[in-house]
Amino acid sequence: MISVEHLTKCYGDFVAVDDLSFEIDEGHVYGFLGPNGAGKSTTMNIMTGCLSATSGRVLIDGHDIFEEPRPAKKLIGYLPEQPPLYMSETPLEYLRFVGQAKGLRGEELQRQIEEVIDQTKIQDVKGKRISALSKGYRQRVGIAQALLGKPRVIILDEPTVGLDPIQIIEIRELIKELGRSHTVIFSSHILSEVQTICDEIIMIAHGRLVAFDEPGKLEKKLLSPNEINLVTDAGAEQTQSLLSAIEEISSVSTSPMDGGYLRAEIKTGGGDIYAVSRKIFNAFKATDKVLLEMSLKKANLEDLFIELNEGGAGHTLAEGKEEDEK
Ligand code: ADP
Ligand code: MG
Repeated sequence: MISVEHLTKCYGDFVAVDDLSFEIDEGHVYGFLGPNGAGKSTTMNIMTGCLSATSGRVLIDGHDIFEEPRPAKKLIGYLPEQPPLYMSETPLEYLRFVGQAKGLRGEELQRQIEEVIDQTKIQDVKGKRISALSKGYRQRVGIAQALLGKPRVIILDEPTVGLDPIQIIEIRELIKELGRSHTVIFSSHILSEVQTICDEIIMIAHGRLVAFDEPGKLEKKLLSPNEINLVTDAGAEQTQSLLSAIEEISSVSTSPMDGGYLRAEIKTGGGDIYAVSRKIFNAFKATDKVLLEMSLKKANLEDLFIELNEGGAGHTLAEGKEEDEK
């Protein structure tokens, strides 16, 4: 349906999007995930034909977004990060304007306006000035305009940013609903949001593709358990020496606990974690010291994402913490 091929965007000598390639199939909800500054908006602006690329291309159902913008753009409805709403208008007036710009006329225009008002549940506010609407309702109006013209793909750039928790839940529900009838791509810097709504995650950082998979599979692939925490009554030196004999272990850090016990955090190089815990168990069994506690720590996507984030733009990743960097 959409194919992004070796997309690169430079601002001066800064590379915002760096040789990015991925394919979007019809009928899924894609979460475009990345820390602030990762290049999400830049990529979406290029995919929708609002911004030119430095190199690479985007095909929408076979149509190059720059060489054949008309048929390509007809297939896409876009809600940019800053929706182009006219504050003095009502949603009805605004939707009529956008519908006409998309080439709709007469009864068809009327019918579609009613349909999108229905879909986005803005019936109650359709006659009020947009300036008087809450951010949640404004976002719905923005989504409604994206739906006009019956595009097969809906692209939403950070649709939940700046909303209160209830509005966030409502917009997420709306995205899920749209996903039943459309291919949806929405961007977010909130991992949990992407994990709950989408069936494919496209993760980017520094303008490059980091991962592309189903949330569950991604977690499995990237994040099999690789950490073991234990508590023992052995000393630090003895623990280090016992563990150093196990080849799968890549690092051990110990810290003393109250009561003369020792906590050890062990990282392995991956592979069969139970094989490693068995070796640890046997190593201690051969001494007069015991393992009092042993637990496997499964890393999660959140950890990975924070890691990416820390290595990147330096922004924190916290749900509910609204960062508006513009
Ligand atoms: P995201 O949407 O993932 O937060 P953006 O695509 O907005 O990221 O930005 C990616 C990077 O490109 C950022 O470092 C941003 O500062 C930079 N950038 C975005 N737009 C411009 C611009 N018009 N001129 C210069 N740099 C820009
Ligand atoms: Mg953005």
